Amino acid sequence: MNKFEALGLNKSIVKAVTELGFESPTPIQEKAIPALLTGTSDLVALAQTGTGKTATFGLPLVSLIDFSSKDTQAVILCPTRELCMQITRDLQSFTKYMDGANIVAVYGGASIDNQTRDIKKGAQIVVATPGRMNDMIDRRRVNLSNVRYAVLDEADEMLNMGFKEDLDTILSQTPAEKNTWLFSATMPDEVLRISKNYMSNPIEITVGGKNTGNENIEHVYYVVQARDKYAALKRIADSNPDIFAIVFCRTRLETQEIADKLIKDGYNADALHGDLSQSQRDHVMKRYRSRSLQMLVATDVAARGIDVQDVTHVINYALPDEIENYTHRSGRTARAGKTGVSICLINMKEVGKIRIIERIIKRKFTQATVPTGFQACETQLFSLVKKIHNVEVNEKAIEAYMPKIYDELKDLSREDIIKRFVSTEFNRFLDYYKNAPDLNVSTGRDRPSISVNGITKLFINLGELDSLTSSTMKEYISEVSGVDMNSIVNIDVKSSFSFIEVKTESAEIITGTFKNIQFNNRNVRIESRGDAGGDGGRERSGRGGYEGGGAKRSFGGGNGYGERRSSGNRSDRGGERGGYSSRGGSGSGERKSYGDRPERPSYARNSDSGNSTGERKTYSDRSDRASSSRSSTDSGSDRKSNFSREKRPRKNF
Ligand code: AMP
Repeated sequence: MNKFEALGLNKSIVKAVTELGFESPTPIQEKAIPALLTGTSDLVALAQTGTGKTATFGLPLVSLIDFSSKDTQAVILCPTRELCMQITRDLQSFTKYMDGANIVAVYGGASIDNQTRDIKKGAQIVVATPGRMNDMIDRRRVNLSNVRYAVLDEADEMLNMGFKEDLDTILSQTPAEKNTWLFSATMPDEVLRISKNYMSNPIEITVGGKNTGNENIEHVYYVVQARDKYAALKRIADSNPDIFAIVFCRTRLETQEIADKLIKDGYNADALHGDLSQSQRDHVMKRYRSRSLQMLVATDVAARGIDVQDVTHVINYALPDEIENYTHRSGRTARAGKTGVSICLINMKEVGKIRIIERIIKRKFTQATVPTGFQACETQLFSLVKKIHNVEVNEKAIEAYMPKIYDELKDLSREDIIKRFVSTEFNRFLDYYKNAPDLNVSTGRDRPSISVNGITKLFINLGELDSLTSSTMKEYISEVSGVDMNSIVNIDVKSSFSFIEVKTESAEIITGTFKNIQFNNRNVRIESRGDAGGDGGRERSGRGGYEGGGAKRSFGGGNGYGERRSSGNRSDRGGERGGYSSRGGSGSGERKSYGDRPERPSYARNSDSGNSTGERKTYSDRSDRASSSRSSTDSGSDRKSNFSREKRPRKNF
């Protein structure tokens, strides 16, 4: 017997899911479908996206609905238009062999009159976003008095997005005796409140552990300087020639900027965010789904609910404000039993956030090193070789040219031909990457540090002679490293060096961020005490006549602390490789023009990346990063960072 049939589903549904390629039920389907098929149970399911939850409620729902009636018997509420359309499509596929089924999607940004017309034809199931559904109710365009089933999908997201009142209004319009099925990736108090208010003795199902991430996702982080993030993103893409990724940014502005740069650099990428019109968004999604795009650069809100198969990588170009969003983001990969990688591109100061995410998702991250330019070249080379090996030859079309080609190449050996052929592309890549810098930032893990009672002692080659006191030095270290002043427990300022006692968890961050930092044109050195040497490791060279002078020096220029410098002269950074394409005119940066390339061109002309200005940043640049990215989150809401210690992770079941 078919495994779906064994769960109690009828033959026409089983036929439809078999056609969709579902061979056996996912764990949540196995647990929930038989119970829901009784038609008498409420359900609260803690399930991540990608677990097969749409079919979990969709399959029993379409079994229970009377499609010979034109009454609206079920309403499914979900947070976004994209998810709304997705659920509608899924349910329409499930009912492919059922007569009379009419499943209608109702969402904002489209004609309410057309949607009303579709409902009036007799929609037994209405899939809706809460705002539009509320509007429909207000205008008396929908009758929910015969609803027997209400499904709340991604309930936590709906509440996050401020749909609480809409949900209450909509549910109050439905009969009290209906069954309510609630799905949520997390279980904050507000979701629990809904389950208490609207359900009686619901079945509770947890899939994949409370709030834990999908087992098939590998979590990886790369530590790079903020200014090298874009270059790192490209290296990662270049080192994964078959990448099919969603790149998450924090703001619409950043999303568009990164997408524009990628396009300019020849990658098949585009942006998805709230500033695009609905038709532009649909167009982008269509291209992504059809794999004309390899990288979709998106905001959280715009990408919510996206169900695209076989996403290989989720790249957190910026960490999400809300940790819950990390789960939502990473859930875009490793769907339906597949594997995937969730990558975070972070700077030293964000390592602590990774630890917080680890605790919440109960999964460990691996720290990876950004591939070197050489590694990227190598990967591309073998990808090219594989491509050549597997290319389908159009014998008929090429036949006529072969004699002339043989003639042209007759003086070359087989080895020479292969070498030359491959080199036509490989040279470009090599050339591009020949001076590519190492983008990794040391996290200080290589340095043994001595920690006693949670306190690590560090040495710094700055002291009284630098006009620093214990409090100004504390301020300086906190400012440069981003660690809280409270983490710096004590500073013992000597004449030309000092000892700093810090909470051990901050020591690594401090030593890591103080790479290539200058103070009054002198390299600042911070080391763990164990490495500092007998005299405190005082750096004599470079101080020159300073000690003799005795005059107190003031801080450097404007920011008071001197200047942060990058490592070495990175004049080559501006030339970080432009992606794969050898497209002419790709430098225009225009979004539309890169359109629907049927296939990614083989690798690449070096377009100038437009990425790195190559300009050094002073350490005070930290503030503009924060302020620019604060400006416009896609949700429009001014969310508080969830990483702050005060805000505890949300309560679960
Ligand atoms: P969802 O969690 O509903 O977003 O589903 C994630 C993906 O898994 C969707 O693309 C579904 O089509 C697919 N899927 C759901 N159930 C199964 C199943 N039993 N076997 C294979 N794929 C499934």
